[in-house]
Amino acid sequence: MDELQQRFRTFAAGIRIDLSDRQLEHYEAYYRMLVEWNEKMNLTGITEREAVYEKHFYDSLTVSLVPEAEKAATLADIGSGAGFPSIPLKIAFPSLRIAIVDSLAKRIRFLEAVVAELGLEDVALIHGRAEDVGRLPAHRDRYDIVTARAVARLAGLNELCLPFAKPGGLFIAMKGSDPSEEIAESKYSLGQLKGRFREAKRLSLPIEQSERQLVVIEKTAATPKAYPRKAGIPLKTPLLSGS
Ligand code: SAM
Repeated sequence: MDELQQRFRTFAAGIRIDLSDRQLEHYEAYYRMLVEWNEKMNLTGITEREAVYEKHFYDSLTVSLVPEAEKAATLADIGSGAGFPSIPLKIAFPSLRIAIVDSLAKRIRFLEAVVAELGLEDVALIHGRAEDVGRLPAHRDRYDIVTARAVARLAGLNELCLPFAKPGGLFIAMKGSDPSEEIAESKYSLGQLKGRFREAKRLSLPIEQSERQLVVIEKTAATPKAYPRKAGIPLKTPLLSGS
């Protein structure tokens, strides 16, 4: 194990995640696949090894700072792209059952290869639009935790993600600096989708110190029948008051 992996282990321990040598090997194998496949398809703009560990792996693990996420049995990751935040979480918490939804087939193919290479179990890889998948009984109102990083503004994102959360579950939206404007803008959509804003948890990345915010939303009841609307509508015409 090299110095970078040692530091990653220390940073993870700082957020109460103890990683075994085997888990560190998994992160390294995932990193190698990410860089290799990225030469053939657009998966990430971040390829420098230290940056991948910090901005993709560590950043993903911060979801577990929300107490319910640390204890969750099921997690749905919407618009996961190359697997963030769910794959780093799955490596850290092997018993977590995850479902990944992404509308781009080639990203799902990459994730199938990652899951096979690392031998990950209980990972459902779903190619489709969240608006369609969120209507299926197997995924609707089902998950303890729903995550989304870098997918859309909250007012639209709520409609893609909240239908997956079970009543009493959480939707955790991973945001960059100050999301207060987005949160204010999303108030009407929260009301429509049975979400209640709990808090925005502020944190910073350990090396470059840039700010991150975890927007934590509680699901208070089952998703009303009208939602999500047809694929494409939620992001094109977000639920804003008066609209
Ligand atoms: N979450 C990853 C991350 O933080 O690196 C990927 C972010 S990428 C900018 C956004 C992803 O969301 C893309 O992979 C895209 O295909 C997916 N996406 C966008 N709209 C979607 C929808 N309606 N349903 C499912 N996936 C969607």
